[in-house]
Amino acid sequence: MSERTLFTRIIEGEIPCYKLYENEHVFAFLDINPLSKGHTLLVSKEPAPSIDQLSPDSAAAIGKALPILSHAIKEATGAIAYNIIQNNGREAGMTVPHVHFHIIPKYAESKHSFTWEPESLDTSEGKTIVDAIRLSLNE
Ligand code: 5GP
Repeated sequence: MSERTLFTRIIEGEIPCYKLYENEHVFAFLDINPLSKGHTLLVSKEPAPSIDQLSPDSAAAIGKALPILSHAIKEATGAIAYNIIQNNGREAGMTVPHVHFHIIPKYAESKHSFTWEPESLDTSEGKTIVDAIRLSLNE
């Protein structure tokens, strides 16, 4: 059996957390190193290492819980906005390889930001990548 992840140990109560919500498929708690007040992690109970490996049932449960939790967090904290961030793979910034979504409230005084430097889409590259992804979707 593969080693249990940090989040499985939290879900099973072995490591304490500030729990917010739980159902058959998902578990939500406060991030231990919050970017802002109310920074929450919504975790699938299924310990998939990235979202492309998550079962449809867990994915559906995450999709259902995200707006409900986001609404509650926004209402309870008075945040003016929020970001939902989800990393997959170490190179993408994932430090705990167990599917989770960050819900990060933004306040008027918040200093954090998520910025990137976009490029213009190259039309021939656009066609090539769309063809490749469509092919992969139909497999
Ligand atoms: P990632 O970088 O994988 O997207 O996010 C992992 C998150 O888990 C980080 O924001 C980190 O602060 C949080 N985290 C790591 N260890 C613990 C822990 O023991 N308890 C809680 N509540 N959060 C944790």
